[in-house]
Amino acid sequence: MGGDTNRALAPTFSSTYPIHAPRPMGKQIHHIYRDRLSQFTNNGQYKQQSLLARLYDGRLDSDKHIKLEVWHAPDLTRPTFKEATSKKNEYVKAKKGDWFGPSWSTHWFRVTFSLPYEWTYKPCVELHWDANNEGMVWTEDGKPLQGLTGGGERVEWVVPLEFRDYDKEHVIYIEMACNGMFGNPQGGDTIQPPDPNRYFRLDQADLVSVNLDARALYYDFWILGDAAREFPEDSWQEHQALQICNEIMDCFIAGEGSRSCIQDCREIAKKYLGSDVDSDKVYEKNTEHAIVNAIGNCHIDTCWLWPWAETQRKIARSWSSQCDLLDRYPEHRFVASQAQQFKWLEQLYPDAWDRVKSHVKKGNFQTIGGSWVEHDTNMPSGESLVRQFLYGQRFFESRFGERCKTFWLPDTFGYSTQLPQLCRLAGMNRFFTQKLSWNNINNFPHTTFNWVSLDGSQVICHMAPCETYTAEAHFGDVSRSVSQHKSMDQDSTSLLPFGKGDGGGGPTFGMLEKLRRCRGIANEVGLLPKVKVAESTEDFFDRLEKRSAEGETDLVTWYGELYFELHRGTYTTQANNKRNNRKAEILLHEIEYLATLATVQKENAMGGGSYKYPKKDLDFMWEAVLLCQFHDCLPGSAIEMCYRDSDELYAKVFKTGAKLMDDVVAAMGFEDEKAKMIDQGNGEGENVLLQTLGWTRQPAITTAFVSARDTARVRQISEDVCVLENGDFEVEVKDGVITRLFDKKAKREVVPKGQKMNQLVIFDDKPLYWQAWDVEVFHLRSRKELKAESGSMRIVSDGAEKVAVETKTVISEKSWVKTTISLNASSAGEGVSQIEVHAEVEWHETMKFLKVEFPTTITNTEASYETQFGIIRRPTHYNTTWDMAKFEVCCHKWADLSEHGYGLSILNDSKYGFATAGNVMRLSLLRAPKAPDAHADMGHHQMKWAILPHVGALDERTVRAGMEFNVEKRTHKHAEPEMVKSLMGAFKLAEDSGKGLVVDTVKRGEDDEDASNGDMPAKKGRHVIVRVYDSLGGMARGTVLFGPVEVQKAWKCNLLEDIIEEAEVSSDGMEVELRAFEVASYKLLLA
Ligand SMILES: [Zn+2]
Repeated sequence: MGGDTNRALAPTFSSTYPIHAPRPMGKQIHHIYRDRLSQFTNNGQYKQQSLLARLYDGRLDSDKHIKLEVWHAPDLTRPTFKEATSKKNEYVKAKKGDWFGPSWSTHWFRVTFSLPYEWTYKPCVELHWDANNEGMVWTEDGKPLQGLTGGGERVEWVVPLEFRDYDKEHVIYIEMACNGMFGNPQGGDTIQPPDPNRYFRLDQADLVSVNLDARALYYDFWILGDAAREFPEDSWQEHQALQICNEIMDCFIAGEGSRSCIQDCREIAKKYLGSDVDSDKVYEKNTEHAIVNAIGNCHIDTCWLWPWAETQRKIARSWSSQCDLLDRYPEHRFVASQAQQFKWLEQLYPDAWDRVKSHVKKGNFQTIGGSWVEHDTNMPSGESLVRQFLYGQRFFESRFGERCKTFWLPDTFGYSTQLPQLCRLAGMNRFFTQKLSWNNINNFPHTTFNWVSLDGSQVICHMAPCETYTAEAHFGDVSRSVSQHKSMDQDSTSLLPFGKGDGGGGPTFGMLEKLRRCRGIANEVGLLPKVKVAESTEDFFDRLEKRSAEGETDLVTWYGELYFELHRGTYTTQANNKRNNRKAEILLHEIEYLATLATVQKENAMGGGSYKYPKKDLDFMWEAVLLCQFHDCLPGSAIEMCYRDSDELYAKVFKTGAKLMDDVVAAMGFEDEKAKMIDQGNGEGENVLLQTLGWTRQPAITTAFVSARDTARVRQISEDVCVLENGDFEVEVKDGVITRLFDKKAKREVVPKGQKMNQLVIFDDKPLYWQAWDVEVFHLRSRKELKAESGSMRIVSDGAEKVAVETKTVISEKSWVKTTISLNASSAGEGVSQIEVHAEVEWHETMKFLKVEFPTTITNTEASYETQFGIIRRPTHYNTTWDMAKFEVCCHKWADLSEHGYGLSILNDSKYGFATAGNVMRLSLLRAPKAPDAHADMGHHQMKWAILPHVGALDERTVRAGMEFNVEKRTHKHAEPEMVKSLMGAFKLAEDSGKGLVVDTVKRGEDDEDASNGDMPAKKGRHVIVRVYDSLGGMARGTVLFGPVEVQKAWKCNLLEDIIEEAEVSSDGMEVELRAFEVASYKLLLA
């Protein structure tokens, strides 16, 4: 006995694995099997054999089933539905292939359907309409249904079931607008000025029967293909995606693309995508920690490459499309900003407005932003920023019962340092943007962080890591939301704002389909970040806020402005528009102050008993100014048409303002019959200076009160040299430039020896691409000094009150500058004197940049610039790339370079661009970009600046001089001067108040019965709102005086005029104490 027995008992090895290899099998060459995928869904040579050929199983375009008639609206008008469908309009036959135009014209189509019997049972019938331009589908009785955007962007309209009855005719209207999403740029380059003669071909006007399974497979395959292409090759998920894609293609080929094989293909896809991607059920799985929060939006520029009138239609088209999509996709959420756009819809499209309102009520159409428009934040004044929020939030509250919590500015060109404080005071503690991803020098280091303003206030800021606000909801957008997230150590969640912008109409059904599949991948195989359609933007921020508040995470901080390292030309382009902005802001400031006084004076003691606070006109003016601060309007980056629109609107603003000024001056008893008697020497009284600023201004110096030392005088030394002098300065002017400026009080020279202050310089100005937007750092290399015309200098004023010399400088054959340098008599006391320059420019250049330079004898590594409600300091050197990036910055009414004991401020009346490099200060005057407005800034300009040297540090002298330089001294005759002066003493600060304090705005309460616009319920009682800020950056105390106005009670309030806390009031005033750079508003209840 031996081993034999054991052998018999051993288990038999019964594997079915073949003993012999049946055939050779090669390694799959990865890239070949990957490249193959494009055959299935691309428009190439295999299209007819691919899935694309199966998307539709029927198409009708004959006259029998779809009949087209058109009426051409005359003269580029944009008629309403009612006007367009008037019986007197002749509709003529039209057909596919016809051309329509020119640019900006409108054509109305009457489309009559009649479906064959077999189509009444088709699961999905769509109208495909593509004329390569924008359109709107209307019902026969005038209800807007949905927008259309040509060029394949959004061409399908789902034919409703009630249209599907056999052999009956149904009618819709289509309004065709002859512009694309981005207007009508010449030669296809988006930013080129519009081509007035563009024509559009109607390529598609077809009824199609959709193969819904094939369409679903198309999106399955799209996302699976992306997984095969974009997942890393060292992941199993990438390899599996590739296998599944190839399996699907093989199955499709084997089944010859039949209906049943397409269903089999979808079954294969489920192995990777899961079985829930055909509904919102896919979002119910793994609900914890979805980190990418997709939110629909359709960023509509309020004007840009098209005028406001087209924006109004874009809004109606886009938001109607979204209402339709919201009905079809339960998970879908859509956000829209800009109160102005809602107001337009309310006024012009009542049916679309009702539809939007009902969706807002349901919660899937969400209002966001809290501002009037998505405005520029560099240039509007502090009070303008306040009004953006006040008008915005009040609109949203009055129409939808809720204010916004998130300030939404995805596309604005840099963010001013006081925004966090103003947001908090306007009920918003969140801020969303992404524009800094466009920086062309430094990569901004955070995605989610606390952004801190000058006064220490903070908001949670999130910058979408997908780095766009109009994502296509691609696989890559989802994956970049993690791979480009820079704050993952603190919080990994992010927003993914998706949807076509600017008339593209926002999210498409395809984007929602893709997102479902991206989530399917995350559920089934992982690796792709888990995406969900956000419940709301607020929900995203709520979670963030909660984690931060509960100490689960400590967000990093960013103090000060979010400087945008691009688009620096926007501080200067379209000078006239910027000048209008400044002038309108100042005018509103003056009118509101005086109108407040006129309505609170004791029983209208000065006459004008019937005077009412002109709320309606003030609202008109403010809404116009706020509209023009839109982020492509005020910055100067829109087409010429837009500036014709804004010029017209500003003209109305100034006309209304002039009338309001006349009215209020009369209501205060100025220029009444009694006052006019003064002229005849019969009455008492005098010329009284209107005191609209937060301090009492000195009237113009008259020689009667000026010592010989202080009088202004001028002497001509030679043909090209003059010396201007007063008690403070000796100014040597040679050929229009200041070659010497001696400060007598400080006993110091202000201009470095041999250098020239007030020198006009010109630069070649060709940025890399965005002409109107950008000035690029290399422009500085082309600096050229402009020389005065020899012998052109002459004394134009030679009085004891003021002396002035004028010089003409020729820029080119067509362009010139006439500058007048003037010096007033100095005042013996504390007053400051300044050298003023008025420039008249005739400007016809191409891609040039005009500036004026001020070399100084001052040394500092930082310069100061006025910004909204404060001062921002920026480097004067280029140490780091972050410093160097600020080679051109934004300033408001002044910029200042100071060293210990001495400084120099440059004031301006309408400019915003500035640079300080070393000891040279440079004010930017005019640019000459040729796109998108071919005529930007061509023509005549007036501008002023002033040179204000000061002994000691930068202080309230500069702050006040900046304001005074912008507010004209207006005097009017009054019969009872003491009485009106006392009234104008109301709401000014007591003498002993902190010097940094400024009373900026005085206005009536929004909800006062006698001053309300009726948007919100008015309340009893008369209130005055007084806005005070600390302008110099230090805690400051003071007393706001009431003058003759009797105040019963006072509260500190926010910008929306909600009460925060009671303030202390005594018989003559109110004590205030502000933090450094705090903006404090007070609501005073009058007795
Ligand atoms: Zn924009």
